[in-house]
Amino acid sequence: MEITERVFDVIIVGAGPAGLSCAIQAAAPKSRILLLEKKGGPGTKLLLSGSGQCNITHAGDINNFFARYGRNGKFLKPALLSFTNQDLLRFFGEHGLSMMTGENGKVFPETRSSADVLEILIRLCKERGVAIRTGEPVTGITRTSQDFCVMTTTTSYRSPILVLATGGSSYPQTGSTGDGFGFAKSLGQPVTETGPALTPLLIRNFPFAPLAGMSFDALPFTCWREGKKVADRVGDVLFTHLGLSGPGILDASRDIRSGDIVRLSFVGTMKREEFDDDLTRRVQENGTWQVRTLLAAYPIPERLNRKLLAISEISDDIRCSHLSARQRAKLIANYTAFPLTVEAPGGYKVAMVTRGGVTLETVNPKTMESKLIPGLYFAGEVLDLDGDTGGYNLQAAFSTGVMAGRTIQKARTPDKKSR
Ligand SMILES: Cc1cc2nc3c(=O)[nH]c(=O)nc-3n(C[C@H](O)[C@H](O)[C@H](O)COP(=O)(O)OP(=O)(O)OC[C@H]3O[C@@H](n4cnc5c(N)ncnc54)[C@H](O)[C@@H]3O)c2cc1C
Repeated sequence: MEITERVFDVIIVGAGPAGLSCAIQAAAPKSRILLLEKKGGPGTKLLLSGSGQCNITHAGDINNFFARYGRNGKFLKPALLSFTNQDLLRFFGEHGLSMMTGENGKVFPETRSSADVLEILIRLCKERGVAIRTGEPVTGITRTSQDFCVMTTTTSYRSPILVLATGGSSYPQTGSTGDGFGFAKSLGQPVTETGPALTPLLIRNFPFAPLAGMSFDALPFTCWREGKKVADRVGDVLFTHLGLSGPGILDASRDIRSGDIVRLSFVGTMKREEFDDDLTRRVQENGTWQVRTLLAAYPIPERLNRKLLAISEISDDIRCSHLSARQRAKLIANYTAFPLTVEAPGGYKVAMVTRGGVTLETVNPKTMESKLIPGLYFAGEVLDLDGDTGGYNLQAAFSTGVMAGRTIQKARTPDKKSR
């Protein structure tokens, strides 16, 4: 097949929310902007997001967002402040799509349709003259002193400005297969170790599999590695057939690795000592009661109480007066810090995002341009950024995409204000 070479002002690789929003902002009259997408259409993952309803951002003060991206939230501060959740609402509102706040502050399009969000992004790209080429995977990128050479399966393109918006490695069927990490490395841009995040945990010999579907609001849990605490959280937790899920576990998963011990506390905000004192007093005061009856005083599902008694090797009908100190200690340990060994965090097929990515220290947080390679920009999940559930990942993709796009637009047309 004959390979032709085409020249553009800006090439953006990846037509997800980050790449599309970057293209919209970067566009200027007569500018030649190319957006390359490997899938048959743009925004495949966006269409899946929020089960197709698109939890696009979160309500509330933008200053409360930074902590929702773990240790790396600080990097996002300039991008989030220059294109906030309110700016995002205004942007889509101006283009005909209102937003509404649902449960727990999650913000969705009023139509509850990811397709409506995507339609606006594609329409604006077209109106602003962005060339979108789909079904055209980028296979390699090289750099000369003047520009970047971007090879696809059919064509070779050149441009002085290149944006990598290729997403992470999760849900590979959506086109995000980690290609951007390889491109960044090949250009000399460091990339951290990457792995699945916002993912359920597979638990070794999961004892609560028969209780799959049982969920807990605001369950305290910790995570331990080689005796050191690596996470201490309170969140909603769900038992699955294979282990743990639910928003609390998904959010914590970025810090959890195979072999870690997750300890669940089923007694809510009660500390171990408090539960110990309370249970001991109740046992002493109610010697003739069955332990099972006494445990019903705590807000714990009965089926779980039975399971915890069985796991603690305590007979279902034992009376309080017959509960030995050793049995009571075991019960207290299992109710306040039940240990579960993580076989593995769920893989990329089930993880909603990817932790790790292009090293943040090598990227300017006020422009999204590489500090090492002039003209190279990054936007979205390809960066070492991942947020909690609740709309934080899409907001980060939009805010970083907008920031990269505005910077590029300003740099190319210094006398004009960005749009
Ligand atoms: C099931 C699911 C539900 C989700 N729900 C939500 C939600 O409700 N709210 C929320 O905030 N976040 C949600 N997320 C996360 C969110 O969708 C992502 O964080 C976001 O899409 C990242 O945007 P991005 O533009 O950086 O990358 P992506 O959306 O992954 O887009 C990257 C694009 O680059 C393309 N690409 C990759 N390599 C190449 C190549 N070599 N050549 C050409 N193109 C390439 C890909 O095909 C892809 O289209 C969800 C994720 C999943 C998997």
